Amino acid sequence: MNTLLKVRGLKAGYGGAAVLKGIDLDLAEGGAAALLGANGAGKTTTLKALCGIVARAGEIVFDGASIAQKSTTDIARLRVVLVPEGRGTFTSFSVEDNLRLGAITRPAGRKVAADMDRAYRYFPVLAARRKQQAGTLSGGEQQMLAIARALMLRPRLLLLDEPSFGLAPKLVAELFAILDRVRREEGVALLIVEQNAARALAITEHAYLLETGAIVKSGASAEMRRDESVRRSYLGH
Ligand code: ATP
Repeated sequence: MNTLLKVRGLKAGYGGAAVLKGIDLDLAEGGAAALLGANGAGKTTTLKALCGIVARAGEIVFDGASIAQKSTTDIARLRVVLVPEGRGTFTSFSVEDNLRLGAITRPAGRKVAADMDRAYRYFPVLAARRKQQAGTLSGGEQQMLAIARALMLRPRLLLLDEPSFGLAPKLVAELFAILDRVRREEGVALLIVEQNAARALAITEHAYLLETGAIVKSGASAEMRRDESVRRSYLGH
């Protein structure tokens, strides 16, 4: 498998305050990795640093070229797409308009209607609600809409910040199954920040454990599930 994302010595912070102290990550093309860690460890900051939303230093190579100096817009054009925590859908717009807006920054000539059908195929619940105002969707449906909208950009890499946040267990299972399908069927690589470590470890092959801005452990997800300290801190047993 070719490397899609290679990160070395990534540092980032806010103003003078350093949050990431130099982290290394690798993700294969079409691969999936989980980024685990306690509140405030720097998981969200990592995703923001990768797409240039916060100031960063270090090496970030995507598909063989450095993106460390690129703007957020240019990184999005490379089809690296962040689905932020808290969803960020346009609440006063319909489901369909949200999807259409998701496609707005794409190169001209792409088949928006076909991609919309594809988004609805993954998320049939949204198809049934295409005219409904996004703000009136349930939390789970809004999360699905945020991911469906990201799919409209035909991502090569999806950066997912806490996709399970606030969702009922049944919906979490459904959402993770869809993410796994998207990855397998479309070859979209996933980097998933999650508090729900068990779910994230189940659909990824590699996992990183972040503590106060540093990777303190990494390895195969299957091994991380068996790791005593991971079990105690993140799997609740
Ligand atoms: P959580 O699961 O609670 O979201 P996290 O691992 O995603 O945690 P981050 O959101 O990356 O953690 O935050 C890491 C640190 O950076 C925290 O100490 C946080 O207070 C700080 N931080 C985050 N955003 C900002 C900001 N805009 N300005 C200043 N400090 C910030």
